[in-house]
Amino acid sequence: MLKPDLTLLVSDLHLTARRPDTTQLFERFLAGPARAARALYILGDLFDYWLGDDSLAEPFNRRICHALCAFVESGCTGYFMAGNRDFLVGEQFATATGLHLLAEPTVCQIGGVATLLLHGDTLCTDDADYQGFRATVRSPDWSREFLAKPLAERRRQVEGLRERSETEKRTKPGGLMDANAIAVADAFRRHAVTRMVHGHTHRQARHDLTIDGKPCQRWVLGQWDERGNALACDAGGCRWLTIPE
Ligand code: MN
Repeated sequence: MLKPDLTLLVSDLHLTARRPDTTQLFERFLAGPARAARALYILGDLFDYWLGDDSLAEPFNRRICHALCAFVESGCTGYFMAGNRDFLVGEQFATATGLHLLAEPTVCQIGGVATLLLHGDTLCTDDADYQGFRATVRSPDWSREFLAKPLAERRRQVEGLRERSETEKRTKPGGLMDANAIAVADAFRRHAVTRMVHGHTHRQARHDLTIDGKPCQRWVLGQWDERGNALACDAGGCRWLTIPE
């Protein structure tokens, strides 16, 4: 049976063994409503952190990979774009899950509309400290050194960074960590699109903008906790899906 041309997009699940409810919610989503879609895009921060593909054997990671793999084997296409928490996801993860890795940013035809997909942190240009940190950890040298460390040491280091990021979230002014309007407009122009979907800021919203006289839409995906959310797009447009419905 041919599936309807439905695409689902999610981000910022921040899956971790520490949050079993969100994990179960995602598993139920993959085994249920997500299967109505032809394609699922995960736009980063699927995991609270990813220490490297050599952590695939850990029970929690195996569990998530198993759920993703079953989803793909049911006949759906899954795409994964890395976020700032799981940018070390690599080819072994892709092989284990059957997800296609997407570079950031990517323009995809979704419901017949060229749509710019990104995690969203690159739009937060007001936060100079964060952008500096991002440039450091995304450098090949940093990755190589980090991945050469034993898993336990990587975990300690990442837990430390995580705590720092939680503190900063509480102390930095909110506007600093939101997308910058000029960076957003530049992204629309540079990629010649009228629709953009991203996550990262956890500020779920649809923003209607006019860029160079053209109506544009910026959809910001929300994070998952006790409830989840997805953006559902087809030829008729996009709408929010609350999980569970
Ligand atoms: Mn993020």
